[in-house]
This record gives sequence, structure tokens and C-alpha cells, in this order.
Amino acid sequence: MNWTPTRDDFTTYMLPNYNPQAVIPVRGQGSRLWDQDGNEFIDFAGGIAVNALGHAHPALVNALKTQGEQLWHLSNVYANEPAIRLARTLVDATFADKAFFCNSGGEANEAALKLARRYAHDHHGASKDRIVSFRQSFHGRTWFTVSVGGQEKYTEGFGPIPGGIVHGEYNNLASAAELINHDTCAVMVEPMQGEGGVTPATQAFLQGLRDLCDQHDALLIFDEVQCGVGRTGHLYAYMAYDVIPDILTSAKALGGGFPIGAMLTTDKIADVFVVGTHGSTYGGNPLACAVGLAAVETINSAEVLEGVARRHALFREHLNKINKRFGCFAEIRGMGLLMGAEFSDKYHEMGRDTLAAAVKEGLMVLVAGPNVLRFAPSLIIPEADIAEGMARLEHAIASLAV
Ligand code: PLP
Repeated sequence: MNWTPTRDDFTTYMLPNYNPQAVIPVRGQGSRLWDQDGNEFIDFAGGIAVNALGHAHPALVNALKTQGEQLWHLSNVYANEPAIRLARTLVDATFADKAFFCNSGGEANEAALKLARRYAHDHHGASKDRIVSFRQSFHGRTWFTVSVGGQEKYTEGFGPIPGGIVHGEYNNLASAAELINHDTCAVMVEPMQGEGGVTPATQAFLQGLRDLCDQHDALLIFDEVQCGVGRTGHLYAYMAYDVIPDILTSAKALGGGFPIGAMLTTDKIADVFVVGTHGSTYGGNPLACAVGLAAVETINSAEVLEGVARRHALFREHLNKINKRFGCFAEIRGMGLLMGAEFSDKYHEMGRDTLAAAVKEGLMVLVAGPNVLRFAPSLIIPEADIAEGMARLEHAIASLAV
């Protein structure tokens, strides 16, 4: 079938659960992309915090090509070298003793929630099954993870929600303390809420959750699907807080654009997943793990991680400048290269309009809800691209009818 698909063909042939922009990008290099007509875009979106090394990074391309010529798939009936290598690298670099691989963030969280339930079941009995999560959180789209997520719009109309899940207020320790008790098997939290509006946890909140979990024999699960793998300037965000979870989930930047998810945990907790308890046909496949290893090895270096803080400062500087001119933002927040600019009253809920205006100016940005502009660029975005992208953002905001 040698034809060039259009945006209209998307509508014709694909389910209407997405509403992508009018342009169709066909090529990317570093932090720049080109569409079907050769128009160039600067990428401040990073495929929603996925392309942490930009597009077509040589280390990732090389890993994919090399592995692609050797072995694509075995299933979990056989071990494979790239999976063992990636597991060891993650274990050596974190609190964890063991890794489980899957294909996405939602699957990593599904595994984490099942592991926590099973651990409580085996160690404390069947009644310890309650999961505490937080409003505005996002943990994936499987039925378990969307139910644990704190946004009702994603569960409405799909029938009965699994039981034993309660939601407190994010960054409100008193609200969490009211919910966490001897029936709690796990507390799931994003160290920085991404989809929910780019809100970093406070130190007191995460430390307080750790203490409450210890008090009540509950497992603390950090969902680092969006904020992990270098995004905060640390390999994982828990390192910035020095609060150690029992289970950590990772995806997105872990594969730099190739689908992979991981759940990390300690030996004691991992032990309840005996043979046959959980699994995935593709999880831990050689292609994904080879690319994941190249991504982690490249990102977990002083050169990349230290550059994140410098780029964060540049983003902030430019956004402040834009805000001075237009008064469009009420708050600029975030850690490292996951940043959010919340619109002021005058620009209330202008997220989607800004995104479309930015595309017209040759810039890709994200929203986190209708009222927050979100930035999740490559961790190695060149400073010249930041300056050029910000000039385009300034034009886009100037073009908005407010
Ligand atoms: N957890 C968090 C914090 C996320 O931001 C996301 C996706 O945006 C997910 C889980 C789900 O990941 P995936 O879309 O790979 O299933």
C-alpha cells in the first residue's frame, strides 16, 4: 500500500479516542522534527516525557539495530541477555534487588498493585487489601490502574470499580493519615504528579507517607513512570527526596521511545511472585531491553543528569520573561525537565488553544489538564533549541485571542 496517509485518514480509520494535531511528523533528529510537508518543529513535548534523549539518538539507534539483527523475541520460556543486563543495571543503580519487565507504565503499575496485594495476602492475610492513592494522580489506563488513579473522568461509564481503593488529597499528610490503617496493603503515589498538573510532592508529604507505611506494614509504591529516568536530574525522583519506596515503577523514558515498563522492588517483596503468579508475553523482550539498557547507561551519567538543572533554569528564565510580557501564567513549577506553567485567570484554560497555536509556530508543547502548559523535552535539548522554541512559544501566546 504505497500511499501517503493524511490527518483525515486518521479520523476515517482509527478510533476517536484521540484528537491529534493537524500535522503528521515523519522524521526527528535531536529536539527537532519535520512533518510530511517538511515543516520543522522544536520538541518541548518529548512524546510525553518519553524521548529523554531526543529523536534518533545514536546510542539508541545502534542498540536497536544491533539487537534487531540478532534476536527479537523469545518469550519468557527462555531468559535473554539484554533483559538480565538491564535488570542488573537498574538493581545496581537503585534501592531494588529485583526487576520485572513489561511494556508500558500502566502494566508496570498493574504489576506493582498486584504484587502489593499478594504480599499483604501472603504475609498478613486476605483482609489487608486496601490501596490508598491521591486525587489528580494518574497511573495508567488498565482497569485496576485507572481505578487507583485519582481522576473520575477516566473511570466514568465503564461499570463497577474494583473495591478497596480510596483517595486522599495530594501533598496533604493529614488526609493520608486518615486513610492509612492496618487494612492498607499499599500507598501508591507519584513523587511529582505529571498528568494531574505537574505538581512535585513536598518532602514532608513523601517522608510522612514512608513513616505511615512503616507504622501500618503497608508498602509504599512510587509511580515514577513520568518523573523517573533522569527527568528530575536524578536517575529516579526518590533519590532527590531521599525517601526510599518498597516498589518503584518506571516506563516512558526507560526506553527512550521504545515501549518498555519496569517494576523494581526488594527481594523480600519480590519473593511472593512465584512462578506463574504474573507474566507478559512481550515483557522483557530483547529489543526493548537492549534499547532500555542504552537509554539508562546514557542518561545515568553526570554529563546528562547535571545538564538537567542548567536546562531547568533556562526554561524558567524564558517562561518568566514571557510571563512578564503577557501575564499569562499564575505559577511556573516542576522539577528538572518536567515543568508546568499554570495559566493566570486572564488565560484561564487556554491549554489546548496554546498547543494548537504553538504547532502553527513550529513548536510542540503539552498540556496537563486544560489549565497547565507542560514541558517534558529531551534531557539533552541544545540550549539554542530552548531559545528558539521559547521565541516560538512567545509568538504563539501573542497570537491567542484573549
Ligand atoms: N503513570 C504515570 C505517572 C503516567 O504519567 C503514565 C502515563 O502518562 C502512566 C502511569 C501510564 O503509562 P502508559 O501510558 O505507558 O501505560
